[in-house]
Amino acid sequence: MAQSVGAKAGQGASPASGHEPREWTKVRERLRTEYGEGTYRSWFKLISYGDTRSGAMIFSVPTRFMRDWIRSNYADRILALLAAENAEIKAVDFVVGKVAPALPTQAPVPPPAPARGAIARPSVPVRSGEAAESPEPQPVSDRLDPATGLDPRFTFQNFVVGKPNELAFHAAKRVAESTAVPFNPLFLYGGVGLGKTHLMHAIAWAILDRHPSRRVLYLSAEKFMYQFIRALRYKDTMAFKEQFRSVDVLMIDDVQFISGKDSTQEEFFHTFNALVDQNRQVVISADKSPSDLEGLEERLRSRLGWGLVADLHPTTYELRLGILQSKAENQGVRVPSKVLEFLAHKITSNVRELEGALTRIIAHATLVGREISLESTQELLRDLLRANDRRVTIEEIQKRVAEHFNIRVADMHSARRARAVARPRQVAMYLAKQLTQRSLPEIGRKFGGRDHTTVMHAVKKVEELRQIDRGFAESVELLRRMLET
Ligand code: ADP
Ligand code: MG
Repeated sequence: MAQSVGAKAGQGASPASGHEPREWTKVRERLRTEYGEGTYRSWFKLISYGDTRSGAMIFSVPTRFMRDWIRSNYADRILALLAAENAEIKAVDFVVGKVAPALPTQAPVPPPAPARGAIARPSVPVRSGEAAESPEPQPVSDRLDPATGLDPRFTFQNFVVGKPNELAFHAAKRVAESTAVPFNPLFLYGGVGLGKTHLMHAIAWAILDRHPSRRVLYLSAEKFMYQFIRALRYKDTMAFKEQFRSVDVLMIDDVQFISGKDSTQEEFFHTFNALVDQNRQVVISADKSPSDLEGLEERLRSRLGWGLVADLHPTTYELRLGILQSKAENQGVRVPSKVLEFLAHKITSNVRELEGALTRIIAHATLVGREISLESTQELLRDLLRANDRRVTIEEIQKRVAEHFNIRVADMHSARRARAVARPRQVAMYLAKQLTQRSLPEIGRKFGGRDHTTVMHAVKKVEELRQIDRGFAESVELLRRMLET
């Protein structure tokens, strides 16, 4: 073990006392990527550099518990990383409180940029009776401190509610405001950039606002997986389990990323069950509904659908306009309503792009000191607008059509031939032909690897039916209009 101060009188790392040595700054960032934001905030962020003596780097930590934990769990790794940066570092040690003789005054480390996938509050497992020894740990960040890892803009107040997202919004609010667990899990799903992450952060903010001591853990499924794999590799699964199972609220974003990853799913399933059994709130997001998530174990899939499943639909024109107005207002910039309407009309893919467009024109206007006009907007966003022109994707068509006919999106690819699924599939193929530039073979491939003749047949069949069945013709028309807006 490498925790004692090395006796060898070597040249240590040579930081000017009082400054954080470069090696440590780098290693800490490394630790952050390796272990993820949650662990980083719980442990590494609270470590401050103390001194280097005879080749040993000495750090200060706020509590004895932390010292012991870091010594037994992370010291080896920290030393290995430091030694890789600077071979003269031969040992590390951790002490509680100031490093004698004097902990040099440090310039405060600038807070990290707001990061996605982070723990909401440093969740240092403070044991009862284990009050922090001096000095105090870095003050628990307040809500606007980026150190919480939550995006301060992602609040309920900043969320514009419209038809497409009202269910998800109200469900999220319920979770944030209820004293009991209203539904478990809350499962939010929808396409990219429609506000899933925003709502999750908003839940975290709202809960922390009312109950600052609650432990709310937010992270992406990828981070979850990454940490789990690391824990396996470093035989650290106990700490991993403990970290996840001791929270009050667990939020895992973009859970589609663990599809097909069996052991991660297994662990996730157990974590999930453990929390639900203890009546802790779990919030999950994904790009598809539980029943449409592929590569998920059946028992996990069904468990995920036990609570409330709320979807975020693609935005409507009204919602997009509302979002733009609110964002422009928040930035205190006057943007002509013509420009906002133009953007809301043209940029339909997702809210992130919409925001990006607005930011771009505002930045431009500020830089060149000219009023924002429709012309300058068109000029500035030429590339973006072009991309949005060929917007409808086959996936969207499949999703919409499946929704409309109340079948699973998976059935768009399946071999099932029952009329109840075959007909909608034909409609989707037809619309794909009408609304996208894709060739027949390309379309066939997107429908479970079907032959181009099958697509051709579908197109013919739908044309035929439209002539003889009015109800059917109206359905198809409605779908087309919905997909085109
Ligand atoms: P997702 O996680 O679903 O991909 P995000 O939550 O990251 O999407 O949202 C993308 C961007 O769009 C964020 O900046 C978010 O604040 C913004 N956004 C999405 N929906 C809304 C909304 N209804 N009101 C205000 N901002 C929104
Ligand atoms: Mg997201």
